[in-house]
Order: sequence, then C-alpha cells, then structure tokens
Amino acid sequence: MPMTRYFTDYAWLGGAQVAERVLIDVTGDRIAAVQVGVPRPGDAAYLSGVTVPGTANAHCHAFHRALRGRTHRGGGSFWTWREDMYAVADRLDPDSYYTLARAVYAEMALAGISCVGEFHYLHHGPCGVAYADPNAMGQALIAGARDAGIRITLLDTCYLTGAIGKPLEGPQLRFGDRDGVSWAARASNLTGSAHARVGAAIHSVRAVPPDALDLVAEWAQEKEAPLHFHLSEQRAENEACMTAYGTTPTQLLADHGGLGATSSAVHATHLTPDDITALAGSRTNVCMTPTTERDLADGIGPARQLADGGSPLTLGSDSNAVIDLFEEARAMELDERLRTERRGHWTAAELLAAATADGHASLGWPDAGRLAEGCLADLVTVSLDSVRLAGAQPATMLESVVFAAAAADVREVVIGGRHVVIDGHHTLAENPPAALDAAIQAVLA
Ligand SMILES: [Zn+2]
Repeated sequence: MPMTRYFTDYAWLGGAQVAERVLIDVTGDRIAAVQVGVPRPGDAAYLSGVTVPGTANAHCHAFHRALRGRTHRGGGSFWTWREDMYAVADRLDPDSYYTLARAVYAEMALAGISCVGEFHYLHHGPCGVAYADPNAMGQALIAGARDAGIRITLLDTCYLTGAIGKPLEGPQLRFGDRDGVSWAARASNLTGSAHARVGAAIHSVRAVPPDALDLVAEWAQEKEAPLHFHLSEQRAENEACMTAYGTTPTQLLADHGGLGATSSAVHATHLTPDDITALAGSRTNVCMTPTTERDLADGIGPARQLADGGSPLTLGSDSNAVIDLFEEARAMELDERLRTERRGHWTAAELLAAATADGHASLGWPDAGRLAEGCLADLVTVSLDSVRLAGAQPATMLESVVFAAAAADVREVVIGGRHVVIDGHHTLAENPPAALDAAIQAVLA
C-alpha cells in the first residue's frame, strides 16, 4: 500500500502542549508512524501550521442548516423555532436532502470535522407515507457524507409521538414509524460501509413511549451500536415526563436500558442531582451543543459535574446555526465561567479531547481522533497566518487554537488518509458556498 508522508510545524499528540516539527506517515487510511523533532523531508507534503486530529461533530441535524439566520429575528422560543424547522423538513425529499446534506457536510469538512453523528428523524414522505426504499432519506445522508469526504454515523431515530400520549401531526408524520417494532425493522435494513456506521437514537422521552424505549435500547445493544437521545433540553420536557410517569427523563431512560458507556445524552441541561449520578455513574457520554443551547435559550448543563462523575463529554453543532467545533469547545468552558464566576474548568487539551477522541468514540469510531500509530488518519491543520492566530507561541499554541481559532482558519484536512481540503479548498466539492446556497434556496422556494 502506498505511503504518504505529512510534515507539520506543530502537532497536538495529546499532551498539554504541542510537539514541534512532526512527521506523520500514513498508509491507506491509517497513521503508520509519528515522529517528533525531525527535519522536513523533501518527499513529505507540508502542512503549514498546527495540526490536530480530525474533529467529531457528535450531534447534528443536517437540514437545520437551512434555518441559519432566518430564525434569529424577533425572539421567539424553542417551540416557535421548532415550527420554522418543521416547515423546512416538510419540503425535503431524498434528492433535495442529498444535495443539501452534501453541501452541509462539505462545510463541515472545511471546518475540520472528519466525522458527523447525524441524528436522523426525517424518514418518510409527505403525510408519513414511506418511500419505495423506506430508508431513502437515511441513504441520502450516507451518500452526502461520502461525497463530501467525511465519515458519518447515521443515528436512526425512533420518533413515535408528538408529545407524551399525543399522536404525531402535520410535518411530524414524516418522522414516525408505526411503532417501535416497525422502527427496528426499518433501521435493521440500514448497513454501514467504510465511511458509515449505523447507530440508534431515541428522539426524546416526549417522542418515544416507555415500551419502545426498551426496544430501541435492546436493538442498539444487540448491534453493539451507539445509542443517542435528546435529554432534558427544556424544563417543559421534565415537567411533562414527571406528570405522565412520575419520574425524570433520565430516570425513565435508566429504567428502560438507555444509559451506559455506548450511550450519549444530548444537552442534559436541566438535571437533578440523582440524574447526574445516574448518567455519570453509568459512564453515559454527554454531548454538549453550546452554540445551539445558547441560541435556543436552553440553559447551561452541568457538564463539569457530569465529567467529574465519569461521563465523557462530546460536542456537536446540532442546529448548525454555527459549524465550528473550536467555538463549541471553548463555549463549554466559557459558559461554565459565566455561571460560576470562576475561570479554568477545563484545560485546552481536555476541551480538544472532547472535540476529537471522545466525540469519535461516542459515534462508534474508537480508533479515530488521535494522532497516533494505528489510528484513522484524520489530520486537521490550522493555519497560523490569520489575524486571529498571528503571534501564537509554541508554549501556548494549544490555548491559541482552542480559545482563538475559527473554522475559517482550517487550511488542510486529511480524512481517512484522503486529502479532502488543500490550502483551504475542498477537493471534492467544487464550490461549497454556491452549493449550499442553491440547496437552501431549493428548500425555501
Ligand atoms: Zn438535536
């Protein structure tokens, strides 16, 4: 198998500081060797700047990208935002969803995201009528990721009720399978590939009744697949759950097999002390999506307490109002500062680990997100020649990247050994901004 060599000025190999003059040998889709402090060989591709592992976007709904900007006018609430989101969902079909998703995933590749966790619930056609291939929408997402050069974990989402005890209505009909058994039968027909894995998701305790919670959790366990769920994003969800079941969403999920080291709770914003103990004690991953949580006025989840108790933390762009994992990483720390009036809850290395290795692991790719021999060759190089990073020093290079870099500073991206972004240009997608614009206009028209 041919080997490609990459030489970079600085690389983060997992420590508190970056290493200098690093040579990374790549064979096929894997890292074959990493050498530090070496002269630049003549035959190595040069990655100018600081190289970090590919980042993992652990929670995403690709089509929400079409809402960027338009839902930021006139206030509103989570629930009015949801109505806008339903209107876009209602216009998509497998072709337009493929086109939109490919463009959104190209934006992610340009931002240094090498794998996306797509929390996918827009399964069916208008009025909930299944397509000839009932997984046509999921397949469109898998193909979109392939053609944008990134990996995907398709988290096929069970979504059965509009609220606890209420049937689906209007655009929600497109999200629903008849029951948990029908969901499992459909999801079982999805298969992974070199760039794609299939996992399960429970939309929320609002959308999945208790008997179906068991089914989805069992399905994930049987397939050794990741299981993700939205959890306690809004207080109204907790109140509805308490009224219907006399317990919190976390406890309900715990009682129905939902928690564990291959599970991810997304948001986990409004938790009781017992909820925190249950999540952390079971090593359930917790995915924070700070740019979305602040956009939707959700609140600030107890990420530090969850991590202290044993939950790995991951990060996601969720509604895609912003696609920038550096911003998500620093936001987790900065939100905690605002709440506590204290600084320094996580180191830059810990924040970057959430954006890389821990995120990939939560999506079922434990061999990604580290610059180490044997790992998937995902390299993201942040250029140091922008106004944002000019003046960065080796001793604090990691802090500069985490607290000052933007997605726009990503200059080179290698995903699974393939050089997907070269000098800021996507090598597979011709004109990502034009493609995004056209795809979004098409679903608004
Ligand atoms: Zn979400």
